[in-house]
Amino acid sequence: MSRLVVISNRVALPNQTQTGGLASAMDAALKELGGLWFGWSGNLASETGAEVHEVTKGRIAYATIDMSKSDYEAYYSGFANRALWPLFHYRGDLVDYQRDHLEGYLRVNRLFAEQVAKLIQKDDIVWVHDYHLIPLAGMLRELGVTNRIGFFLHTPLPAAGLLITLPRHRELFEPLSAYDLVGVHTHRDLRALEDYFLHELGAAMQTGGRIRAASGRVFRAGVFPISIDTDDVIALAEKAQDSGAVGRLKASLDDRQLIIGVDRLDYSKGLPERFDGFARLLRDHKTLRGHVSLLQIAPPSRSDVPEYRLLRRTLERSAGHINGQYAEPDWVPIRYVNKSFAHTVLAGYYRTAKVGLVTPLRDGMNLVAKEYVACQDRDDPGVLVLSRFAGAAQELDAALFVNPADIDEVSGALAQALAMPLKERQRRHRAMMHALEANTITTWRTAFLDALRHKEAMRPVVA
Ligand code: UDP
Repeated sequence: MSRLVVISNRVALPNQTQTGGLASAMDAALKELGGLWFGWSGNLASETGAEVHEVTKGRIAYATIDMSKSDYEAYYSGFANRALWPLFHYRGDLVDYQRDHLEGYLRVNRLFAEQVAKLIQKDDIVWVHDYHLIPLAGMLRELGVTNRIGFFLHTPLPAAGLLITLPRHRELFEPLSAYDLVGVHTHRDLRALEDYFLHELGAAMQTGGRIRAASGRVFRAGVFPISIDTDDVIALAEKAQDSGAVGRLKASLDDRQLIIGVDRLDYSKGLPERFDGFARLLRDHKTLRGHVSLLQIAPPSRSDVPEYRLLRRTLERSAGHINGQYAEPDWVPIRYVNKSFAHTVLAGYYRTAKVGLVTPLRDGMNLVAKEYVACQDRDDPGVLVLSRFAGAAQELDAALFVNPADIDEVSGALAQALAMPLKERQRRHRAMMHALEANTITTWRTAFLDALRHKEAMRPVVA
């Protein structure tokens, strides 16, 4: 069996606490196959990639490089997070394209390629992750790497009409054809990729998800919706019920109903609209005042990017305004918390909340939606209110769907969720659990790796 080489912007080292689902999925795949995880150490140094730091644990080698401050600013904070991230989340208005950021992005990708090429062995299969490393396979091919290489995009991929607004987009996206397999979360993302290759790059569609690039190289693209470790999340929620943190939250609610939101503080998550939707609920449903609170957990993210700092100020103002308008001495409508919580605690919070409110304007998948569902008590489950524009909407089709920009619709869905009869809640929950039992994080990684390994057969995936 061939080794697996995982390449991502950051590496989850064995001595770090791992919270991400991706980190544990890659660790599980690497444990099974043996191999290497390559990426940035998270440390800054005077030069990028001057040396490779290697740590080995069991069958897994972790190889990391440090990065210079200027490369970090151009590649990561600059091009990846101020051009590609907003573009991929349909926020063309926030794209800050700067030529030296793109140059830095390409330079860091080349340094990654040069260092990791030396570590790739003859029969290895290589799995590259996410928007930080789009051109990597093209660069590896130039260095003579002929191994099977797959790419998974964890964000949405927007329509071709938006992709072409990025200067030098061809130079950036054409190298996707150097991969053997490109994976995305949804059929909408796949259609965007096919459309872009067909109409902008002169590619031709073939059968079985194959795309023949203008260069003549044939690669495949497919839908692989990422998921959670469903059994593990269920077990966490059952255990968390008895924890002190959950006990304190319940005591503080004093029989009031709880709506929960859990998101990185990111403009793609639709947080200002969400606060407005909740305020509309309080405005239009007077009887709910004093009886329901929104707990919004929002750990700060990418605070070196100005849009994120602005969002934080906007939300502070909005929460303050709404609380000032509706609060009573013994009740606060929005509990707004800017810190992160461990999965063990979150699982209990999800289970305590009658409604999970997940309203991103765009999201690749949104694992919080899946976690909320898996954490519910089967006998008395809460209701998921979900944005149509989260990748998770493709599988969790028994949620209450909203357009997150329509605050009346959000308010209406919240009122419906809070009043939903037990039978309907159970029916919707069962349907969504069915999807989460059929597609787990293990199904996801094995489907992708099987498709990458086998040239011919691409197993159909749940979606
Ligand atoms: N998360 C966490 N603690 C927090 C907030 C979030 O562990 O305080 C986790 C959350 O449980 C989920 C992940 O971070 O597993 C967020 O993934 P998602 O796909 O929802 O959004 P992303 O942050 O990747 O855009």
